[in-house]
Amino acid sequence: MRIDGALAGPQDQAMTENFTGSFTQQEPIPEEGIAGAVAIMQTGRLHRYNTAPHEVSQTALLEEEFAASVGAAYCLAVASGGYAMATALRACGVKHGDTVLTNAFTLAPVPGAIAAVGGVPIYVGVTPDLVIDLEDLAGKLDRARVLLLSHMRGHICDMDRLMALCNAAGVTVIEDCAHTMGAAWDGTPSGRWGKFGCYSTQTYKHINSGEGGLLISDDADGMARAIILSGSYMLYEKHRAAPPPETFAQIKYETPNISGRMDNLRAAILRPQLRDLATQARRWNDRYRVLETGLADTPGLRLIPRPDKEHFVASSFQFLLLDWAADAVADVLRRCAARGVELKWFGGAEPTGFTSRYDSWRYAPSPPMPQTDRVLAGIIDMRLPLTFSLDDCALIARIIRAEVSAVYQRPAAAQ
Ligand SMILES: *Cc1c(COP(=O)(O)O)cnc(C)c1O
Repeated sequence: MRIDGALAGPQDQAMTENFTGSFTQQEPIPEEGIAGAVAIMQTGRLHRYNTAPHEVSQTALLEEEFAASVGAAYCLAVASGGYAMATALRACGVKHGDTVLTNAFTLAPVPGAIAAVGGVPIYVGVTPDLVIDLEDLAGKLDRARVLLLSHMRGHICDMDRLMALCNAAGVTVIEDCAHTMGAAWDGTPSGRWGKFGCYSTQTYKHINSGEGGLLISDDADGMARAIILSGSYMLYEKHRAAPPPETFAQIKYETPNISGRMDNLRAAILRPQLRDLATQARRWNDRYRVLETGLADTPGLRLIPRPDKEHFVASSFQFLLLDWAADAVADVLRRCAARGVELKWFGGAEPTGFTSRYDSWRYAPSPPMPQTDRVLAGIIDMRLPLTFSLDDCALIARIIRAEVSAVYQRPAAAQ
């Protein structure tokens, strides 16, 4: 297979090619997952606690395997990533009216999880490298007991520094790993730095069960609370990645049931995908590197640096058109869309699709954040499904490069 880099192909060819793939088309569920799902349906035992004598449920096995894959003591499978985050917040004792620090650059389920427990988000800014602004965080640590840290779009900040800051201030960290399943910072998996790690298994994430979530922790009391919260009907002894039964002695009386369990059908679909995760991560990153190479040194376009310590899983791609005029950015999006390349913009005044921003969450108002606004106004975001080939990625890069260059060269494109 020949991979065209940015330098290959004459300019006039680059101006006429179109892309015809779908940015929302994921790969099929692996055959083994389909067979596992059919087998569960044939038993009729879809509920995680509905097991035959001596049978271990698919959900309990998934929890055990996921915990082992990241080296966590405990794991709980739940109904969604949003549910995992809200449960982690509740298990940390966040109550109505409590403030919670979180990223200004993230997606709606994150402030939504805080709102679900009656919490009040305090947003922390984003840097041009698309990670949480640690200076801004340092100045806000005295305003909350908990940080819900979103590794938004898979960009991981300096976790050693973040944990040192939070530990010194007595702030508990919960990690939103919706975009970092399989990723790590300096060899420690994302999700293993904070008290809880929260994952999503929704269709657009790294493993796909339509909807679903996973929660990990080494904290026995916290995980016991999470298990009771999820709706365990005192059947926690059927789990295989749960704290010992004595941990539940008091907690089972003090903790409400807020049902949000995973079921065996989803778990059966997920288990073979979890085994393939490292391979899939490599395939995603191969695609990412083709795009990155194809877009290198495009005038007016800033690629996002990826530090050596960051082991990422590139299920999406971002770049910045920093300090561009809004109509010039809109023009790039229009021109790329006309050639089949679907880009999303976090700078739009109104929330469209998933690109809502902190000032569109009016239930959780925030003072303006000018430095963050400058970055958000330049963020261009693209999905990178594994149904794209490396050639597809090279073509997409040629199209973006040509259209960004065409608009940038016009007078007054940049402010
Ligand atoms: C998808 C996502 C979640 C969790 O989403 P669910 O749809 O509830 O599984 C959390 N955070 C981010 C940043 C996400 O993109």
